[in-house]
Amino acid sequence: MLIDAHCHLDHLGMTGASIFLSKLAEKNLEGLVVAGTRSRDWKFYAPLAEQFPSLHVCYGIHPLEISEHWEQDLEQLRMFLPKAVAVGEIGLDFHGMFDRAHISEMKRQMKVFERQLRIAQFYQLPVVIHCRDAFFAIQEILLYTKFDLHRVMFHCFVEDVEAARWILSNGGIVSYSGVLTFKKFGDTHDTAALADLSQVVVETDSPYLTPSPFRGEQNSPDYVRYVAEKLAEIKNISYEDCVAATAQNTRRFFGF
Ligand SMILES: [Zn+2]
Repeated sequence: MLIDAHCHLDHLGMTGASIFLSKLAEKNLEGLVVAGTRSRDWKFYAPLAEQFPSLHVCYGIHPLEISEHWEQDLEQLRMFLPKAVAVGEIGLDFHGMFDRAHISEMKRQMKVFERQLRIAQFYQLPVVIHCRDAFFAIQEILLYTKFDLHRVMFHCFVEDVEAARWILSNGGIVSYSGVLTFKKFGDTHDTAALADLSQVVVETDSPYLTPSPFRGEQNSPDYVRYVAEKLAEIKNISYEDCVAATAQNTRRFFGF
């Protein structure tokens, strides 16, 4: 059955998320991997994961959710990691930041990203990376921290063929979202075609990035099947094979 390798449920509230999680099997979903992006989210997901074994949680500080107390937040993060499947989503988001006024913000993002990579190494956890307009900086930080690329997943992968080749040749995982179903978005179809089937997973990143034909509506993990359908078409395999392979890759990467 399908696994959504990256989504968010906090917008549903505790009751809404519980109801959703109790109906996963009806929706043909084997499980969900959610990303807690700030301390408030970590406290939201931890009790849900205790109650629902099909919920797997990544804990991290998203590059756009760095508070002024990020040092304390990192200390708190460590408390959640014994139950985490990965540190994430972490990374860099430099969209609209390439000017002098944002230099300190970019530096702060890089520092918090690097610190979380080192924490992941300490706890021997994989990482889920959020990358927006920042691939080269992320690549540089992964290289100088000597992070094992086999333990790196680029979520909502939209980078170019050259970036994909680097990630894939080093054993990393690329995760495709609803963007793959959009008519033509950069190199996404090309990178999906070249990736080995053992290095690809599917996600919704819901409530964001709703796939076609539902663009404009709020996204939901149910819609991960449209991403898997598109991936099967691009890779010229059956939908069932695509679901089986991506679910297996997700379990292997996160270790559940
Ligand atoms: Zn996300």
